[in-house]
Amino acid sequence: MKNKPIIIAGPCAAESEEQIDIAISEVLKRDIDFMRVNLWKPRTKPGFEGLGKEGLPLLVKVAKAGINPGLEVIMPEHVTLAMDTVLPVLREGGKLLLWIGARNQNHILQKDIARLCAKDPRVVLMVKNQPWPSEPHWEGIVEHVLEAGIAKENLLNCHRGFAPTGDNPEGFRNLPDFAMMNRVKASTGIPVIYDPSHMGGTVKNVFAIGKMAAGQDIDGVIVEVHHDPASALVDSKQQVTWKEFDELLAVIFPEMVA
Ligand code: PEP
Ligand code: MN
Repeated sequence: MKNKPIIIAGPCAAESEEQIDIAISEVLKRDIDFMRVNLWKPRTKPGFEGLGKEGLPLLVKVAKAGINPGLEVIMPEHVTLAMDTVLPVLREGGKLLLWIGARNQNHILQKDIARLCAKDPRVVLMVKNQPWPSEPHWEGIVEHVLEAGIAKENLLNCHRGFAPTGDNPEGFRNLPDFAMMNRVKASTGIPVIYDPSHMGGTVKNVFAIGKMAAGQDIDGVIVEVHHDPASALVDSKQQVTWKEFDELLAVIFPEMVA
């Protein structure tokens, strides 16, 4: 491996101060680049859609603990709220990670989001592939945000798999396409983060997907981790505990523990 992989970990969504306090203490024990502190959650069916603005103080808490926060932004106003909240309290040399999720395929909004992120070099933007398999569409997301002015060195791409259309005996939530991932990485020149949580859908399958990632040319991972997955308000079946997270990292990056 060329560089240390970029590690993004934490709960699917911020739910409470207690949950974030526990996550902060677990993140501080590990070499984690960004902690997931998601406030806005697009859902397949209506349900818990995140704490929204009410959760902004949790971002402050994470940043004040010296941790780089990361969250999904759906609307340009989310970018402004996150930047205005986090940047003033970010540690020296710290970064704020914002990402555009798989469901957010309005290119006008993608560009507006990227334009706002580009205003401060401490903001890293990550784009996730769209839910359906299409190489030009995936490349297009990257091209749209670059056109909006985000610097290449502040952009990450994330492979979260594609919705299964054919055989799927293991019951994966989304299927990886490593060949496409490699081609998109080569054509865009943007590092690729891998999301075993949203590919797996269950803890067993998150580990199976983790094994498939070992040896692939990936630049990092984003993993959903919860101190008590059974009580999680969203994606409870695929969130791993912090102990399982350590085991998963060893599966994906065996050379890190060798
Ligand atoms: C997420 O990362 O929180 C998420 C909802 O994933 P995706 O956009 O890939 O479905
Ligand atoms: Mn999730």
